[in-house]
Amino acid sequence: MKVLITGGAGFIGSHLAEAHLEKGDEVYVIDDLSTGSLENIKELQENKDYRARFFFSQDSILNHEKMLELVGICNRVYHLAAAVGVLYVLEHPFGSIRTNIQGTEKVLELCNKFKKRVLITSSSEVYGKHVHAPLAETDNIIYGPSSKFRWSYAASKLMDEFMALAYHRTNGLKVVITRLFNTVGPRQTGAYGMVIPRLVGQALMGQPLTVYGDGKQTRTFTYVKDVVKALIGLIENPEAMGEVFNVGGTEEISIEALAKKIIAMTGSSSKIEYVPYEVAFGKDFEDMQRRVPDIQKIKAYIGFQPKTDLDGILKSVLAFGPKRPTGSTGKTG
Ligand code: UDP
Repeated sequence: MKVLITGGAGFIGSHLAEAHLEKGDEVYVIDDLSTGSLENIKELQENKDYRARFFFSQDSILNHEKMLELVGICNRVYHLAAAVGVLYVLEHPFGSIRTNIQGTEKVLELCNKFKKRVLITSSSEVYGKHVHAPLAETDNIIYGPSSKFRWSYAASKLMDEFMALAYHRTNGLKVVITRLFNTVGPRQTGAYGMVIPRLVGQALMGQPLTVYGDGKQTRTFTYVKDVVKALIGLIENPEAMGEVFNVGGTEEISIEALAKKIIAMTGSSSKIEYVPYEVAFGKDFEDMQRRVPDIQKIKAYIGFQPKTDLDGILKSVLAFGPKRPTGSTGKTG
């Protein structure tokens, strides 16, 4: 099997590439390294069992000729290349919309041309400002006004979903859509704001743990290797084509409780510092207060059950700890 992973030098993409290499597949990665890094794929390029089956192109997914070549030779396409992180989106408002919408359009156009099976990664952001839990794929979505630029990310991912569903309905494209909920694990950087690598890095360095707002907002975190299994299971399931799936964990935790857990697990002398959202992200920001997935649908289709709990996730991140920068602020689903 030949597999193309757009954004394959990113945190999730590099784990997906590794899983396919372990299975004996040929893996093609295209990444412009805007938020991905060569460090993430170094082991794959150097491993003697993998290097002859791993092909990396540093290029944009908007490069038509390159994408034509890559989609043409691969049997499966995973589209992970996207603007990453709330902070990144706030700082690159036009570029992130362009990457998310035009990039996905290019991937879908070529997969349709060559009739290749494709998986689109969307995000739990798509649900918007809900406070109820759990969130099911059939739920309504609620966004803030367009003056709050955070919602541009959700809106761009939602447009990706509509484009994918339109290709499925009108052209019979075999496409599956996944909404990822706060994926975490080794190789994730805190540079785009993701809370766990940031707080772990701060705890290890004895710095204050920056909890935004009152810390009562909640999330459920999913281990990256569980996510990778879900992505592979879904793209291989013919029944999943034309469907949207939540991919996430089941343990809801407030960010304040998460910070306390990290301090306890690391034995750090750090204290919690509550940072107003306005200071972290500027005035035009609003957070999602709660984000818990309903995973009945993915369970029913592929028997998905996350295997690694939050303690296991934190241990894996801690083991990776010293190599990771904590970065500034900003996002994983
Ligand atoms: N967060 C925080 N401190 C940080 C980074 C993030 O309190 O240093 C909060 C953030 O405001 C959000 C949650 O942690 O409520 C998860 O943030 P992340 O960017 O990891 O993902 P999101 O769920 O916002 O996409």
